[in-house]
Amino acid sequence: MQGYDFIIVGGGSAGCVIAARLSEDADARVLLLEAGGNGRGLLFQIPAGFAKMTKGVASWGWSTVPQRHMKDRVLWYTQAKVLGGGSSINAQIYTRGNAADYDAWETQHNCRGWNYRTLLPYFRKAEGNQRFVNDYHGIDGPLGVSMPLAPLPVADAFIKAAQQYGIHYNPDFNGAQQQGVGFYQLTQRDGKRSSTASAYLEPGTGRKNLEIRTGVQVLRVIVEDQRAVGVEIAFGTRKEVIRAEHEVIVTSGAIGSPKLLLQSGIGPADELRRLGINPVHDLPGVGKNLHDHLDLFVISECSGPHSYDSYAKLHKTAWAGVQYILFKRGPAASSLFETGAFWFSDPSVSLPDLQFHFGLGSGIEAGVASMPRGGVTLNAAYVRPKSRGSVRLRSANPADVPLIDPNYWQEPEDLKRGIAGVRIARDIMRQLALRPFILAERLPGPDVNSDTELFEHLCKNAKTQHHPVGTCRMGTDRLAVVSPELTVHGLDSLRICDSSIMPQINSSNTNAPTIMIGERAADIITGNRVAVAA
Ligand SMILES: Cc1cc2nc3c(=O)[nH]c(=O)nc-3n(C[C@H](O)[C@H](O)[C@H](O)COP(=O)(O)OP(=O)(O)OC[C@H]3O[C@@H](n4cnc5c(N)ncnc54)[C@H](O)[C@@H]3O)c2cc1C
Repeated sequence: MQGYDFIIVGGGSAGCVIAARLSEDADARVLLLEAGGNGRGLLFQIPAGFAKMTKGVASWGWSTVPQRHMKDRVLWYTQAKVLGGGSSINAQIYTRGNAADYDAWETQHNCRGWNYRTLLPYFRKAEGNQRFVNDYHGIDGPLGVSMPLAPLPVADAFIKAAQQYGIHYNPDFNGAQQQGVGFYQLTQRDGKRSSTASAYLEPGTGRKNLEIRTGVQVLRVIVEDQRAVGVEIAFGTRKEVIRAEHEVIVTSGAIGSPKLLLQSGIGPADELRRLGINPVHDLPGVGKNLHDHLDLFVISECSGPHSYDSYAKLHKTAWAGVQYILFKRGPAASSLFETGAFWFSDPSVSLPDLQFHFGLGSGIEAGVASMPRGGVTLNAAYVRPKSRGSVRLRSANPADVPLIDPNYWQEPEDLKRGIAGVRIARDIMRQLALRPFILAERLPGPDVNSDTELFEHLCKNAKTQHHPVGTCRMGTDRLAVVSPELTVHGLDSLRICDSSIMPQINSSNTNAPTIMIGERAADIITGNRVAVAA
């Protein structure tokens, strides 16, 4: 290809969507640059591959800075480094949050056109739903969205137990109502993970106007006369400048996007000068407003081989492989988190503010204890956090790891509501329906009861839910980084179009909303917006 119209930096959940959509126009020359590998291989296809994904596979290897409100604990902070980004390594849970989350983007954050009614067509456009055909769902989109293939009896018992606790059954968290307990839908098609790389890019592999380069790290966006004109890249020991005739589109994720902007001299001028970076454009909001969901969990030991922990033995793993290859069933077809709930931290709250994920094992994620004789995990997260942190550079060297500070529990309400979630999780696990499956609660354990004891325990055990957002926030005020058209304030030909633009996190997992952002961004760029019925 001779020259490029669009350079997309970061082939993650949003970047792959935008690359695929822009290259539908055969006249648009598109280059997609991804620092990680191509994400092919069995581990990325098999749903249960998730069990390896927070332990160092295809990720940047980052950690947080010491968390001031968590007794200076440093948390492992997995972020994807592979084509498909988070969608290639995540737990595949497909949720969107609450309609009110998006309405707040428009009404409280001044993001015109970003309300639920306008955004629903983009969720639907992306979606190829295996089960639901109604106003909330699309069936023809590239992204496979399916019911779990391998739930175990203990998952049904969890759903019953939550109802015994008082949470009603909900067949579709992304439909008319968010709250309730039930099965999650998963980003899978025909028993395989549906990442944005496999769903959006593979069908267009033969396109002559789309070039995908993996193993290429972008060092900076090049700005001339307040206009983005290209990027400087590094691959191996070599460096190269590539120019874009129309736009540079940054989709490097909620940590990677602000990092790249800061490396390019776009950000708070005084902060940049202190690092020895020449400010190209003073934009004080870059890297601010980082927020995330914090996972708190209860682990119970099972009374028998009721969870997938029993498959850790070699002969059972081999049998699981055979089952998967022959029937697309069994443990390897499970994303390990297939049921869950949305509920309220107290009865006075008007929107669901807690999310629960029931894990069919223990030790599924890095840093989480595993039960020697097998267990199950119930994660509880407060999904409307008020705490805000930042992403900063450690130095002017792009190879340096960023300073990631989610600033968990800066706001005491986040801790209070998180603890309320743990108490509910414990209560659910003690209900009648789960008794035949559970020997005893092991974490936090029977001796940990008061708020102070729980705080001490959670400081040591809480983990990220891998949902960072907000660091290049959309809006129109002084600290906003992009406009509602996703253009960087004060610069031409530069957009940011990923999870970093969310002004406020949606109250659930963040992959589907990020894919929606990718779909909408592509339509904004091509001027081809989906019409919303009057
Ligand atoms: C372990 C894990 C589990 C998760 N589980 C779920 C789940 O079950 N359900 C759900 O909805 N959400 C889940 N999420 C969150 C969800 O996947 C993310 O919110 C989403 O993928 C973010 O998309 P993004 O496009 O903003 O960034 P990413 O998908 O992270 O993409 C950014 C891409 O840019 C690349 N990049 C960064 N900097 C550069 C550079 N300088 N040059 C070149 N390339 C660069 C990165 O390598 C990466 O591939 C999970 C995330 C993780 C990490």
